[in-house]
Amino acid sequence: MKHRIVVLGAGYAGAFCAGYLARQLHADDFAITVVNAEPDFVERLRLHQLAAGQELRHRPLAEVFAGTGIRVRVARVTAVDVEARTVAVADDAGIDRLEYDTLLYALGSTAADQEVPGVHEHAFHVAARPAALRLRARLDELGEDGKVLVVGGNLTAIEAATELAESRPGLRVGLVTSGELGGWLGAMGRRHLLRAFDRFGIAVHEHTTIGCVEEDAAVATDGTVFASDATVWAAGFAVHPIAAASGLDVVADGRITVDRQMRSVSHPDVYVAGDSVFVIGENGRPLPMSCASAGFTGMQATAAIIGDRTGRKIPTTSLSYVGNHISLGRKDGIFQLVDGTARAKSWALCGRTAAVVKSKILDTAAWSLSHPTFGKPGHRYRWTGSREPSPHVVAA
Ligand SMILES: Cc1cc2nc3c(=O)[nH]c(=O)nc-3n(C[C@H](O)[C@H](O)[C@H](O)COP(=O)(O)OP(=O)(O)OC[C@H]3O[C@@H](n4cnc5c(N)ncnc54)[C@H](O)[C@@H]3O)c2cc1C
Repeated sequence: MKHRIVVLGAGYAGAFCAGYLARQLHADDFAITVVNAEPDFVERLRLHQLAAGQELRHRPLAEVFAGTGIRVRVARVTAVDVEARTVAVADDAGIDRLEYDTLLYALGSTAADQEVPGVHEHAFHVAARPAALRLRARLDELGEDGKVLVVGGNLTAIEAATELAESRPGLRVGLVTSGELGGWLGAMGRRHLLRAFDRFGIAVHEHTTIGCVEEDAAVATDGTVFASDATVWAAGFAVHPIAAASGLDVVADGRITVDRQMRSVSHPDVYVAGDSVFVIGENGRPLPMSCASAGFTGMQATAAIIGDRTGRKIPTTSLSYVGNHISLGRKDGIFQLVDGTARAKSWALCGRTAAVVKSKILDTAAWSLSHPTFGKPGHRYRWTGSREPSPHVVAA
């Protein structure tokens, strides 16, 4: 019987890992199944563009994994039983149970509502494709006349507000944030950001906390009422509760705790990558939920799976946080680098060049899912049996 590897989620982390494993492991010894809620790879980094009305390239998983032997199961994961080593999945045909020998958990995250009343019922978000399409439909209803309020002052809020303002110039777009808009940016990046918001005519309300969302307004904790035809909640991400409910060891926000090789500390046959993982980066801080982190943790997790199942040494992937690329519509952007302590450097690449660089990075990330070895030949490593995971197998 083949060793069964089940990958949960086919986003940036899961799709990369599954494709990479399929190219390194011998198909006679390993069977790889990917479970994903949607039949396509969704370019999550472009979902604000989708919400604004732009079309994204269609990337069916069947094409992404063509020729790899990976089995794709389009279904919703509802639970993981880490003792019985099974995953419960639901689709139109009903509930099913998949057995695994090795599990790679990469279910990503969704919008965090911070338990603010009314967010779930009345607000929109752009953290998943169905949600982005719902916002788009609402904006279509509003046409050229309407008020949109974006809540949040970080990356997703900035990208959503500027994209909507650029693509739908008739809308009156505002942004409310409890802190400073882009307050973490270096001096040059922040100056550029504020100028861009000014150019787009986006009204910014800093140091204001929204306490509840209603159908046609968002109300701040100081009583200020912001009339809004569509409130876009972009105040952070939260992981799905499936990991915590399964009994895997998690931190307070539900992310799974792992060792340096991305094995769950409580269940070492479960490996984790992407937004779902809690791991300390090279700068001594938790890696942020980001596309780059999905890449680093995915590379480390696949190296560990290959090492643990085929007896090979496990190379170390650097878990670095180098900075952020931020789009400000299609023609403008900021590429903010950070230093070794995660503080923004004073210099940033700004303007059209930053927008082009960001677009190329996104295209490369999507391309890498079908080319996870980046042109290097794959291997056909044979199964040598599971062994006790040990940090001593790490090769520098
Ligand atoms: C609008 C937007 C802009 C962003 N911009 C940036 C950026 O500029 N730079 C950056 O670094 N990061 C950015 N991010 C964050 C980035 O998208 C995430 O950090 C990244 O997608 C994490 O990868 P992942 O594979 O862990 O999760 P995802 O890419 O979210 O993949 C998770 C996969 O799991 C599937 N899934 C989830 N739940 C289930 C379930 N129960 N059953 C079955 N399948 C399920 C999903 O359908 C999805 O395919 C942005 C996010 C958003 C929403």
